Amino acid sequence: MARTTSRGTCLLCDGTFSKAGMTRHLQGCLQTHPAAGPTSPQAQLRRARVFHLVVQSRYAPGYWLHLEARASARLGDLDQFLRDIWLECCGHLSAFTIGEQSYSVSPMDDFGEKDMRAELGHVLEPRLRFTHEYDFGSTTHLALKVASERDAEYRREPIRLLARNNPPPIPCGVCGKPAVVLCAECCYEPDGWLCKACARKHECGDEMFLPVVNSPRVGVCGYTGEADGDWDLECEDESDDDE
Ligand SMILES: [Zn+2]
Ligand SMILES: [Zn+2]
Ligand SMILES: [Zn+2]
Ligand SMILES: [Zn+2]
Repeated sequence: MARTTSRGTCLLCDGTFSKAGMTRHLQGCLQTHPAAGPTSPQAQLRRARVFHLVVQSRYAPGYWLHLEARASARLGDLDQFLRDIWLECCGHLSAFTIGEQSYSVSPMDDFGEKDMRAELGHVLEPRLRFTHEYDFGSTTHLALKVASERDAEYRREPIRLLARNNPPPIPCGVCGKPAVVLCAECCYEPDGWLCKACARKHECGDEMFLPVVNSPRVGVCGYTGEADGDWDLECEDESDDDE
């Protein structure tokens, strides 16, 4: 299947770069953009060992993130960060797999699993690849890579976002305009992804609709992510489209 080049935005300089070029861009951009924004007092900066992490959806690689994480952050911090930005729908279990070792939010001793208290600095190293799974029913699979490690000025947050993919263009299956909702019943068919106008005519009913959000969990298990009210079709609405 032909794909357009995935592009994303660097949050340090607001520039747009290809997925393939972002790691190299950030290596330079991190040198010229200090860790703190202009409003943060220098007093809050600390010197710390940090990792540059690249995260992508294993089966939908158009969804990707670049993160900077302190070596003293815990796997649980990283899990929470990924839940907040991409994953959380209803508190499912999750786990990292690093080498042969599984680190779970709910470890089962019988399977030799560990919890997520381990510090990143103790389990990660440059060029290491590892995985994360959220929800062991309708699983969202992520692949992570340690792009580099360095000493840096750092703010208090254990993890910060450096760059993120721009929303992949998803056309309405009916008319080709950008899709804003998907039908949970029909989302495995192209015409289950719909623009607002076509969604109003979709026969499954608006209770089946979920917002198209910039996350590999789009359409899964009622995930609405960071969607604002925009995707709400207001079908039975009295106010703005009574014609
Ligand atoms: Zn930049
Ligand atoms: Zn769920
Ligand atoms: Zn349409
Ligand atoms: Zn439908």
